[in-house]
Amino acid sequence: MHVLLVEDEKALHQEMRKFLTQAQYLVDSAYTYAEGHEKLFVNSYDFVLLDLGLPGGDGLDLLREVKASEKSEASFIVLTARGALNDRIRGLDLGADDYLPKPFSLLELTSRMQAITRRKFGLKRAEISFGDGFVLDLTARTLRHGSTPDAPGPEVPVTKKEFDLLHYLLLHRGRVLTRLQLGEHLWGNVLEDDADSNYIDVHIKNVRKKLNEFGSADFIETVRGIGYRAV
Ligand code: CA
Repeated sequence: MHVLLVEDEKALHQEMRKFLTQAQYLVDSAYTYAEGHEKLFVNSYDFVLLDLGLPGGDGLDLLREVKASEKSEASFIVLTARGALNDRIRGLDLGADDYLPKPFSLLELTSRMQAITRRKFGLKRAEISFGDGFVLDLTARTLRHGSTPDAPGPEVPVTKKEFDLLHYLLLHRGRVLTRLQLGEHLWGNVLEDDADSNYIDVHIKNVRKKLNEFGSADFIETVRGIGYRAV
């Protein structure tokens, strides 16, 4: 998942960035209002973690502008000063999905991000079942096949990237995701042409191969000339 971190306190920023990266989020950094503004309108993110007191402007203005433009599907978490009730209310009124008063625990941050993802995609639990008996466990970050209530099935040895690719396809089940979207949300880069997107095809091929050793990978459909869809 692609995250934009807009925070001008350098130490906090670096700490958050490191933690999120370790938790397998792909983090883009902005330290000023202008930087945040530019990145938000150029790139496509899943999450925006937004400080309010920024050099050059108020984070809430950025939130208001993005929401008014309807350009971003990102979920927003507003980082507020403790006790700043007005900021929290204004943030939520403007369409933020959640807020965290500083100082906050980084574990709480990622746990709230996971809760927002579940809410956004209508998941009741931190797992996704798919295909003929596969289950993606979003907390343990494992993929298993053929688990029963009594015993977990064998673990399918997917890499971190392959896990993220499956996760992203499954969250958007039924929707065609272009190579550009997959590239941006999972690798953080914008692909210029088809030649560059070859690595996504390679990853899909590898995932299918691994899944086929345990069950059927048929739920990943190739949409010719466009991209992929999980069904
Ligand atoms: Ca600040």
